[in-house]
Amino acid sequence: MGLQAIDQERLISYIKKATERAQYFLGYPIARDFDYTALYPLLKLPLNNIGDPLVESTYDLNSRSLEQEVLRFFADLFSAPIDNWWGYVTNGGSEGNLYGLYVARELYPNGIVYYSEATHYSVQKNIQLLNLRSIVIRTDERGEMDYADLSQMLHMHRDQPAIIFANIGTTMTEAKDDLFEIKSRLRMAAIKNYYIHCDAALAGVYSALLDLKPGFDFSHGADSLAISGHKFIGSPIPCGLVLVKKNYKERIGKAIPYIGTVDTTITGSRNGHSPIFLWYAIKQLGTGGLKKRAEDSLLMAASLENRLVEMGIPAWRNPSAITVVFPEPSKSLRQKWQLATENGLSHVVCMPGVDEIQLNAFLKDIQEDARVSREVVGSLSS
Ligand SMILES: *Cc1c(COP(=O)(O)O)cnc(C)c1O
Repeated sequence: MGLQAIDQERLISYIKKATERAQYFLGYPIARDFDYTALYPLLKLPLNNIGDPLVESTYDLNSRSLEQEVLRFFADLFSAPIDNWWGYVTNGGSEGNLYGLYVARELYPNGIVYYSEATHYSVQKNIQLLNLRSIVIRTDERGEMDYADLSQMLHMHRDQPAIIFANIGTTMTEAKDDLFEIKSRLRMAAIKNYYIHCDAALAGVYSALLDLKPGFDFSHGADSLAISGHKFIGSPIPCGLVLVKKNYKERIGKAIPYIGTVDTTITGSRNGHSPIFLWYAIKQLGTGGLKKRAEDSLLMAASLENRLVEMGIPAWRNPSAITVVFPEPSKSLRQKWQLATENGLSHVVCMPGVDEIQLNAFLKDIQEDARVSREVVGSLSS
C-alpha cells in the first residue's frame, strides 16, 4: 500500500528540503557524520525500554541489554563509583538534568539550586516543575560562573542545603564551571549538605575522552551528570544519558505490576532504538575513534577562529572549546547557516560532520557579509 500521489510528492519534497538544509547546519552542536544503515531493520520493531534499565520487564521487546552496555561505557568514562552508580538512556540532556535535580530534591527537599545566568533555558522550567527554590549566579563575559557571586549567595543562605547546577559547556559559549572552585566556595561557607549536578549535555563526552580541564566527573565531585547523545556522538533521534550515585537514587521508584518492573525513570515508555544508536557508535568507533573525532573538532575550531580573526572578525573561543563565537552577522546569513544567536553573539559549533567545504563556503559568505555591512556603515557616516 503506497501513498497517494500528492502525499508521495509532499514526502519527496520534504526529504529533499531536509537533505539540502543539512548542508547548511553550523550553528547547533549536532554531529552529522553517522551512518546507522546497519540498524535499519530495527525500525520495523516497536522497541520500548519502559521502566528501569537494570530490571527486567514483562515488555520483552526491548534493548535493555544494549542499554546496559552503553551505561557501563559512560559510567567508566565518567569515573562513576564502582557498584554505586545507576542511570538510563533519556530523551536528551534536558531530561537528564531534570532527573539530576529530582534526585537532589529527594535528598534535600529544602535545598536551594544555584545556577549561572548562562545555564540552558530548560533548567528554569525544571526548577519550577520540581518546586525548588533557586538563585541565579552571575557569569563572567565568557559565560563561566562568577565564583565570588556564588560565594556571597552561599554565605547568605548557609542554613539551607545547596544544590549546585554546574555547566560543562554552556549552550552559547561552551564555558565550563569549575567544580574545584565550587567545592572550595562550599567549604568556605561551611555548607555540609550539598549536591552537585553537572550539565554535560554539550561538552561532556569529548571533554572526558580528552581528559580536558577542569575535570567534572564523579571523581571530581559530581553527584550526577547528564549528557546528550545526539550532540557529539550523533543520533537521528534525540537522546541522552543520566548517571547518578545509586544510593541517592534508591529513594525513587515504585514497583509497578502492569509493566512488571520499577518506575524509576521520568517517562514511562522509553525509546528502545536510541540506546542501540549509541551502542553502535561506541562499538564502531571505539574509544580511539571517538577521541580522534574530538581532536579533529578542536583542530577545526582553532582553524575557524584563526581564519575569522584574519578576516578582521573578532572571533573567540573558550579554552579547549569547539564553539567559535563572533558578533552576529546579518539575518540572512544567520538563517542560511542556521546560526543560533543571543545578545548580539552568534556561534559555529565544530561538531563531527562539519567539513572544510562547508567552512570555506561559510567563510566566503561571512566575508562578503562583513564587507557589505562596512559599506552600509560607511555610507551612513559619509
Ligand atoms: C543541548 C543542551 C541541553 C539540552 O539538551 P537536549 O538534549 O537538547 O535536551 C542542556 N544543556 C546544555 C548546556 C545544552 O547544550
